Amino acid sequence: MSILRVAIDIPLPRLFDYTSDDALPHDVGRCVRVPFGSGEKLGVIVAVAQASEHAADKLRPAGEILRGMSALPGDWLALAEFCSRYYQHPLGEVMALALPPYLRRGKLPAKRKTKPQLEAAIAAEPEVPELHPEQAAAVVAVAADFGHYATFLLHGITGSGKTEVYLRLIEQILTQGRQALMLVPEIALTPQLEGRVAARFPSARVVSAHSGMADAARARGFLEALEGRADIVLGTRLAVFTPLPRLGLIVVDEEHDGSFKQQEGLRYSARDVAVWRAHQCSVPIVLGSATPSLETFHHARREGGRYKLLELTQRAVAEAPPTVRCVDTRREKLQDGMSAALLTAITTRLERGEQSLIFLNRRGYAPVLACPACGWVSRCGRCAANLVVHLADKRLRCHHCGLEAAIPKNCPGCGNLDIHPFGRGTQRLEENLARHFPQARLLRVDRDSASTPAKWQAMLETIHAGGADILVGTQMLAKGHDFPLLTLVGVVGADAALFAADFRAPERLFSQLMQVGGRSGRAQLAGEVLIQTEYPAHPLYQALLTHDYARFAATQLDERRAAGFPPFTFQALLRAEARQLDDSIAFLKTAAAAARSLLPNVPNGVSLYDPVPMRMYRVMALERAQLLTESVSRPALQNFLTVWVAQLYQLKAPRDLRWHLDVDPLEF
Ligand code: ADP
Ligand code: ZN
Ligand code: ZN
Repeated sequence: MSILRVAIDIPLPRLFDYTSDDALPHDVGRCVRVPFGSGEKLGVIVAVAQASEHAADKLRPAGEILRGMSALPGDWLALAEFCSRYYQHPLGEVMALALPPYLRRGKLPAKRKTKPQLEAAIAAEPEVPELHPEQAAAVVAVAADFGHYATFLLHGITGSGKTEVYLRLIEQILTQGRQALMLVPEIALTPQLEGRVAARFPSARVVSAHSGMADAARARGFLEALEGRADIVLGTRLAVFTPLPRLGLIVVDEEHDGSFKQQEGLRYSARDVAVWRAHQCSVPIVLGSATPSLETFHHARREGGRYKLLELTQRAVAEAPPTVRCVDTRREKLQDGMSAALLTAITTRLERGEQSLIFLNRRGYAPVLACPACGWVSRCGRCAANLVVHLADKRLRCHHCGLEAAIPKNCPGCGNLDIHPFGRGTQRLEENLARHFPQARLLRVDRDSASTPAKWQAMLETIHAGGADILVGTQMLAKGHDFPLLTLVGVVGADAALFAADFRAPERLFSQLMQVGGRSGRAQLAGEVLIQTEYPAHPLYQALLTHDYARFAATQLDERRAAGFPPFTFQALLRAEARQLDDSIAFLKTAAAAARSLLPNVPNGVSLYDPVPMRMYRVMALERAQLLTESVSRPALQNFLTVWVAQLYQLKAPRDLRWHLDVDPLEF
């Protein structure tokens, strides 16, 4: 008889032992059914041992070991263990997240029929452009590190040919009989990209992995990768957990994108996990971006830095980058929020049959409904937020918890009939534009109008085919697409992010504006970007005018260094939420006291701040507070967190209180 040590999907940081009569050493990494409480759960066997620290007669016998599925390999288990350790999250929950839902339920999908072998395919690929010298140099540099760990930052504006570099590298690694993993942001994973990859490698087996897939298809892809039959895995953040026994190369496109960080449960950064995985498997990883995260850029620019910097300075096809201009709105009375310069520029595009895009990163009709008589505003009853006016379907809606209400006819406070939407979202901008340009075909693209992948896809096709004259949209429109007729990008309402409390807001704004600006003037037509602002001299806009990411990044990094922010420190946030803010704060105070008793034993200094209510302190009727800890040393912070979190599980807390830790948080 042997002992199975099993990771089970429950929120406790421990494994569970069971007895087994027929377990073999190579059952490590297999799924197993086990009794748990009065029911049954599916777990993953982490070890097969001879002895348990629990008395043998206390252990229950394990159920069926699922031998129909290959065992998860050792490096996959090590990856899950790393995430559990680094993000201080129970191993069973990490594995549950990493496994497709279908497999987690113990089901196996039907196999799809096999495709022809690889070698035949590579010869028959569609026309492939000749690489520019910078692209060729990048390919040579990365390929020189095949078989070794190395992290590369491929820095180049949209259209500079980064994807072409990835494809060449993937081609080379496939000919070596290895697998490639390519991660892309949620919104960028479209049939277009899948098509481009599949067309380039017609006989390679390309597997997609993202949360929008049907369960069986996702499980099938996972198994194909696990069994070494998949050649390329293309997916969003969760694809980083795909087992790849022949892994040879990892690519993370748009590495700065916020969607690589999961904001619930296991709060992992798929980009950071991918770098760890590359190291673990001794393979190179390429992080690509036009506006790298400051963390990544910092590593790549330092003398003797840990990452190697590869730069693409030219656009691959169109010659000139767009001209960027600031329109000073302090001296002008705007019409519906738009300057004369912007309106004229749109008119010119309409006359020439070209497209314009107006970028406003705020969806809905207006951010709030208000009564000028008594000061009533549409607040969400569950969150510290206003209800946003959605005139398209005549609703008030909370963008944090989804609460909806009808738009009242008169003021709920004083009965006044004259209540107004204040401010401007994409729906209102669309309405305003329709009034100014009644002859134009308008298309609004935001999470409300492009609510499903199919709608989003249809919109992309409309834009591509010239079926719209003026696009109005949020950052959704900024990402990863080639709009050949687009020659004007207007930016409105961006100033707020210059002065936001979140120290990462300028980084995000710069990246969004670079990306959205990069939409214009591809193909043969020159592009123009007009930014309406009251702060035309602001360094962020000045850097945009000259397309100078490096200058922007350098000033930001200086500020971060002076303020002691990441990447010069490492942070973790303990958050608590309960019905009463007092309970959340009290829990964090107890946690802080526990931490202070540990701190003298932690070398290198970890600092601890006071618990504070979160900026959005109320969401879904739960009141939230947070406690920041930080250190200049990542290992010191990690050591501290490991001991501290073990204590947190022991702390007394009200029944309704939930807490979690966010390591390397992106949002405060
Ligand atoms: P990025 O990923 O940096 O946005 P892409 O790799 O998608 O850039 O390249 C942009 C466009 O330029 C694509 O249509 C691509 O096919 C084309 N392209 C890329 N490299 C070359 C090249 N060396 N010669 C000609 N066209 C190229
Ligand atoms: Zn009123
Ligand atoms: Zn709400």
